[in-house]
Formats: sequence, structure tokens, C-alpha cells
Amino acid sequence: MTTTSPIEIDGRTGEGGGQVLRTSLSLAAALGVPVRVTNVRGGRRKPGLLRQHRSCARAVAEITGGRLEGDALGSSELTFAPGGPPVAGDYEFAIGSAGSTMLVLQTVLPPLLLASGPSRVTVRGGTHNPSAPPFEAIAHAFLPVLRRAGAEVEIELVAPGFAPAGGGEVRLHVRPAAAPTPVAIERPLDKPRRRVVVRVHGIPDTVAEREWIAFAKKTDWPRSCLDVVRTEGVGGGNAMVALLEGDEATAALTSFGSPALSSERVGGVLARSVQRFLKAGAPVDAQLADQLMLPLALLAGGRFVTGPLSRHAATNAEVIDRFLPGAVSMGDAGAGRNLRVTVRGARKDP
Ligand code: AMP
Repeated sequence: MTTTSPIEIDGRTGEGGGQVLRTSLSLAAALGVPVRVTNVRGGRRKPGLLRQHRSCARAVAEITGGRLEGDALGSSELTFAPGGPPVAGDYEFAIGSAGSTMLVLQTVLPPLLLASGPSRVTVRGGTHNPSAPPFEAIAHAFLPVLRRAGAEVEIELVAPGFAPAGGGEVRLHVRPAAAPTPVAIERPLDKPRRRVVVRVHGIPDTVAEREWIAFAKKTDWPRSCLDVVRTEGVGGGNAMVALLEGDEATAALTSFGSPALSSERVGGVLARSVQRFLKAGAPVDAQLADQLMLPLALLAGGRFVTGPLSRHAATNAEVIDRFLPGAVSMGDAGAGRNLRVTVRGARKDP
């Protein structure tokens, strides 16, 4: 058990959402330092610990043999003291709701990259949640960058899960990065390979068709880009993910379906995101930008160009700075409003 006093993080920092907590837990586990987060999710309309965040806390406690205080649902103050370095193993975490499995995986992955052997992590809950990366974003955008950074990581979608029913399952295979390498993603996006994955889970195919027609009308993408994935299982749901694969990184842009939205609107929202992204011309999209800083800071660092910084990204940089001062810096990328983010890595090439 560590005896140093905890790093204090105010959960209202910046965006004030779950990411402040998850980044704190992940870095505390990876670096072996205790952390206390006050005002947990203090910037949200319903603040406090939800099941997904509690699963993240319990997961980092389990992989480090650590101790938690204040992990009851609704808690506004959480303390986590790692018991030791992250231990490789075969882990299973059930969120107990449709909460995002992807966000739990993103929390335990960075510390497990530093463990002494390979791990397998299974998480049950939601795999396609609004306000979280869907499975496709992790599989096609986030993990490929980590592979370029030297990590061996694979993900399997065992079963998709959509809110409110959940019932999804995902499995991650992680091999620690033996020789981390700095990553550069700076070249402007030029003629990316294009694909649109439309998931129709327990709902009619006509939803995918109407979404695609609305999307294609605005973007002129050919029908050969369309990939409809039909599944059945617990509950129902729909997500539309545009994948734009450049030479150095892939952007995954998502529009989630819901009974409150017309299929045409879901397709139209995705088309506008794609147009905005292509206009900015930066290779890293806003969401990938906020997600890459943490793992790169623990590996060998890197540089990437992204569009105007999101509040999530600015907040994440601020929280990372509390654990690894000066690790993330930003400057003008020299074209339009794009920014170059430079991440200093804690591990260098051997
Ligand atoms: P928070 O809102 O603080 O719980 O953090 C949500 C996290 O999910 C952030 O890292 C966001 O970048 C990420 N996120 C939200 N929506 C998406 C999306 N559609 N695609 C990829 N990542 C997302």
C-alpha cells in the first residue's frame, strides 16, 4: 500500500464529466500514486458516481490490488490508493447497466500496457453509447494508434449492447509495449478510404436504408462505402459510424439513432460531422485527440494535428498535467484553426 498523500483532483475541472475521474484513476493506477477526486462529475446535471464510473474505479483497484473509499453509487468523493504496480491477468468486469464498456476498457488499458505480461479483459454493459466512443471508434481509430506506439492490442465484439437494455460484451487482449515508439500523425488528410458502418440491432433494415440515403444525399459518397451490420440480441439500437482512414490515423465519426430521432436526421447529422471534419483537414478528430493524450504520455509520446480543441481535450490535458507536469503542450499547426498537440512520453525507446 502506498503511503504518500493523494493527488487532489476537483471533479469540476473544465468539462467536469466522467473523463476527469477516469483519467485520474487510470494515471493513478499506471504511476502507482494515490488520488482523491472531489465533486465527482460536478459539471454534470446529475453529478456523482454512476455504475460505469464505479466499474472503472473497481477495475483499477482490482488490477493494482488497491483500496477504494467512497465508491458507493452517487458518491461525490472517491479516493483510490493503488496497492502496487498493475498486474497482468484475465479480468472480467460487469457494469451492471448499459453503461459504456469502452470507457471502462480505456481506463484499464493504459496501466495494463505497463504490466509485466499479457492480459485479457472482458467487460459487459453497453458497446454503443451516446457520449462515449462506440466499438468501431476503439477498434478502428484508437487502438491502431496504440499499435503504432508499440502496444499489441486487439479487441473483439462478443455481443453488441445498446442503452437502455445493455447486454453487450467486449474483450480486449493486451500485450505490454516492450519497445514504445513516438507516434507522429501530422500529414493533412488526403483522399481517405471511406466506409460507413450502420448497425441495426433488433430493428428493421429500412432504418439503415433511410439513414444512408440521407447521408449520401449530402456527401455524394458511393453506395459501395455502405456496410450494414444486422444483429439480434438483448433490446434494440442503432448507430451509424463513418470511418475515414488516412495514412497515419483513422477518424471514426458517429451518429446515434434513438426513437426520438428520424432516420433521416441521424444520417444528416453524420453527414455534417463528416463535412466539418474534412473541411478542417486535420488527421485526428476531436474525440480521438482527447483520448490519445493519456496513453501516449505513458508510452513514448508523439505529436498530432487536430482541429480546434474540444473542452474534453483541454480538460484531459489539464488533468494529465497534475500527474505528469508539462507532458502535453499545444501550438498552432500553421493552417487555419488547427492545433499541433505534442505529448512527452514517460517511456523512451530502450
Ligand atoms: P465524459 O463525457 O467526461 O464521460 O467523457 C466521454 C468520453 O467519450 C470522451 O473521451 C469523449 O471524447 C468520448 N466520446 C464521446 N462521444 C464520442 C464519439 N461519438 N466517438 C468517440 N468518442 C466519443
